[in-house]
Amino acid sequence: MDKPKLTIDEMAAFCKRKGFVYLNSEIYGGIAGFFDFGHLGVELKNNIKKEWWKTFVHQRDDVVGIDGSIITHPMVWKASGHADGFTDILVDCKKCGSRFRGDQLIEDKLKIETAGMSMEEISKKLSENKVKCLKCGNELSSPKRFNLMFSTHVGPIETSSSAAFLRPETAQVIFANFRLVAENARLKLPFGIAQIGKSFRNEISPRDFLFRMREFEQMEMEYFVHPDKYDDCPLIDEVLDYEMNILSAEMQKNSKKMQKLSVKECISKKIIKTKWHGYWLAQMHRWFVGLGADPSHFRIRQHVKDELSHYALDTWDLEYEFPFGWKELQGLSNRTDFDLKQHIEHSKTDLSLFDEESKKKIIPHVICEPSQGVERAFLVFMFDAYHFDKSRDNVVLKLHPKLAPVKLGVFPLVSNKKEIVELAKKIHNDLKECWTSTFDTGGSIGRRYARADEMGVYACITVDFESLEDNSATVRSRDTTEQVRVKISELKDVLEKFLKGERLSKLGKVVE
Ligand SMILES: [Zn+2]
Repeated sequence: MDKPKLTIDEMAAFCKRKGFVYLNSEIYGGIAGFFDFGHLGVELKNNIKKEWWKTFVHQRDDVVGIDGSIITHPMVWKASGHADGFTDILVDCKKCGSRFRGDQLIEDKLKIETAGMSMEEISKKLSENKVKCLKCGNELSSPKRFNLMFSTHVGPIETSSSAAFLRPETAQVIFANFRLVAENARLKLPFGIAQIGKSFRNEISPRDFLFRMREFEQMEMEYFVHPDKYDDCPLIDEVLDYEMNILSAEMQKNSKKMQKLSVKECISKKIIKTKWHGYWLAQMHRWFVGLGADPSHFRIRQHVKDELSHYALDTWDLEYEFPFGWKELQGLSNRTDFDLKQHIEHSKTDLSLFDEESKKKIIPHVICEPSQGVERAFLVFMFDAYHFDKSRDNVVLKLHPKLAPVKLGVFPLVSNKKEIVELAKKIHNDLKECWTSTFDTGGSIGRRYARADEMGVYACITVDFESLEDNSATVRSRDTTEQVRVKISELKDVLEKFLKGERLSKLGKVVE
């Protein structure tokens, strides 16, 4: 297991230097927890979202999508529990006024892992240990609760009834629309409703670059099952042999190390309580690995009793080993019928479904709620793709071809021969119809290859003097630097196969 080669700050610097991510409004000093995506960043981010949607919506018959609004009726947050319960512990310095999150202070000052600690425990630990200000060392205020929702007002005049909130999660919009979506799409249980969109959390201290932000994007799904068919997962065979690093609540209690186990073992040993949960954990894990992430950097960890949310029966986190430790990528909660019941009660609207079999109305259970931050996925793919190649003396960003922001680079070998430049440009324009492509005439060909490697360009096509004679061009692989000579008329076919994972040396005449 090799750890990520960069620190999070080095990754932030790389992302800025190559045009992936910038601190928002940096010319005014920036604003903590908000980031802007540059030309490569937006391409990567869009590719991540596209792949997620393709895998979990387009390629499934049991999932449909929605796109809800960011501001929603404030009663939604009353019903969901966010208005009263979505809080963090805040302490501030009595002298310098610096503000800190309670759990972060405990981790930084007392070096104690806070995953699994309740709000009460965090408060107690802070008071007991008389933790001091991280900045100036002075005394801190007593811990208080702080709601993480951003508030705003709807309409021109601020009144007590005009208050509204930017959504802190996408899930509730799915619940509020549940009945309409289910009926319109004629969905039969079990089924899922998915959504990708922005969410906002007014974090006390955003940090670790894209890891903890105030504005972020979620790729989320609520998967509903019949309340009596919790363990009836007709799709489980697809994942039974799939293996993952597992860290159960039991293992954590006994200070045991994580263990590589198959889904089959987890279910038969009752480590994972329901088949549906095992199924979705494996699907989410497999999505990352299928897009090039290194499985040794992942584990699934069960929440211990104290960290279970108010609504959850069982929660597993998919975690990744970041340079700053194992951190949550997504939490997969079994939310039961908590949310639908809350909305039924608060809205006085019937959100139940009619069960043909029992001829009764039922309220489905959310067996699992895979919820993935787009930016956290972005970080995972960047960390696992980043390689410094000593022999090339440059960074090679080995992003999966489906994720690479720019798939192709087209270069005329020299920039002072008109016919070569024109032919290269023609090829570039032609390829752009199918893939993202960059056209680069600046500097030596070696320099241009290095630049392309750092952007993650999957294949480079070079047009040279010979091309004018033999109507061929050289195709170079980013990952192996292998080069083959290919007829220009066959370029599209060859590139299509190469981008799908075939070896370049099998697709053309190898250049020695
Ligand atoms: Zn202070």
